[in-house]
Amino acid sequence: MGAQTSHRYFVTGGAGYIGSHTVLALLRDGHDVTIFDNFSNASRDVIDRLGALAGKAPVLIEGDIRDEAALTSALTAQKYRAVLHFAGLKSVAESVEKPQLYHEVNVGGTEILLRAMEKGGCKAIVFSSSATVYGTHGVSPIDESCSLDPINPYGQSKADCEVLLENNCQNDAEFSAAILRYFNPVGADKSAKIGEMPKGTPANLMPLILEAATGEREKLAIFGNDYDTPDGTGVRDYIHVSDLAAGHTAALPYIEAHPGAHKINLGTGRGYSVIEMIQTFQAVNDVPIPYSIEARRPGDLGEVVANPNYARELLDWQANLGLEDMCRDAWAWKKSIVKSSS
Ligand code: NAD
Ligand code: UDP
Repeated sequence: MGAQTSHRYFVTGGAGYIGSHTVLALLRDGHDVTIFDNFSNASRDVIDRLGALAGKAPVLIEGDIRDEAALTSALTAQKYRAVLHFAGLKSVAESVEKPQLYHEVNVGGTEILLRAMEKGGCKAIVFSSSATVYGTHGVSPIDESCSLDPINPYGQSKADCEVLLENNCQNDAEFSAAILRYFNPVGADKSAKIGEMPKGTPANLMPLILEAATGEREKLAIFGNDYDTPDGTGVRDYIHVSDLAAGHTAALPYIEAHPGAHKINLGTGRGYSVIEMIQTFQAVNDVPIPYSIEARRPGDLGEVVANPNYARELLDWQANLGLEDMCRDAWAWKKSIVKSSS
């Protein structure tokens, strides 16, 4: 889909997993993009790769979202149509060990960004929130009216950012925010040139399946097979990262025309169990995934699936790619990084 009008967007964390796929979608739509990233969880290669894939390079500003002078200078030097704010820390386990750091980067960074946007006269933001904000209600599918009940410092930091954004909208009638609550992003661009690069030991299912597939990990531990789900293993709403990126490009024209805070689930509405993930991955990629059944992981819910209707109504967006695409594209990306590091 080509854009009718080209705009300039400012993307914090644009070198990271979800940010890079969104930058690619924006560049391919003909927009100009400035990435602001400190590369704490991304590779510098991504910038060149994005330029090569899109036939148009993003501008890079290397900096930290806690650096108010740097953000203010960037956002006042140019006029941006909107900011897409991906930069932040995202490990639940690390957030339990370092709650202060998560507050400082995720909440403090967002406060600083909002001040810099005000100085630069930019009044629209797309924010990366998470289904984690819903906590342990156990309602599934879950819609946006459900109250928030985050159970760890990471989830709390996202809920706090949502409040900051809502306050900004209340204090400025022209300000708009799309608060996008992602479910479980997986997969990679089908070029296999960009994808997820977890630092250290991954905690999420797909990166762990990929490690079991390469043999880096002897086997995948399935955390519980006694949930109230069809096969007893945990069910989640996995969404292809390219569909997720398209959700952002759909949100932009909406917020540009509709001030206020809009909280929107981005999921498929279809849940898959851990066993279904493993079986689909094996069938699509013809690779065995050895596994064992282990105890439940503390804090886990049996099923977490989005009600995606609001996104469809509001943004005319829905996920199109299925679990086979997610498994195939994740494996193609993983093979490409294993090959380039060997
Ligand atoms: P990521 O770690 O791949 O990307 C984050 C990017 O931000 C990286 O490029 C990193 O270098 C950069 N960054 C981190 N701290 C920074 C700082 N202080 N200053 C400047 N740049 C900084 O993560 P992702 O998976 O792409 O997630 C993007 C956003 O979406 C995050 O806010 C995350 O919390 C949220 N989110 C992710 C998921 C998921 O499963 N991946 C789910 C829900 C929400
Ligand atoms: N899971 C698993 N083994 C792992 C990692 C995850 O069985 O090594 C399960 C987990 O219990 C959940 C699902 O896979 O049912 C997705 O977990 P993930 O951490 O990716 O996402 P989240 O639970 O945060 O939605």
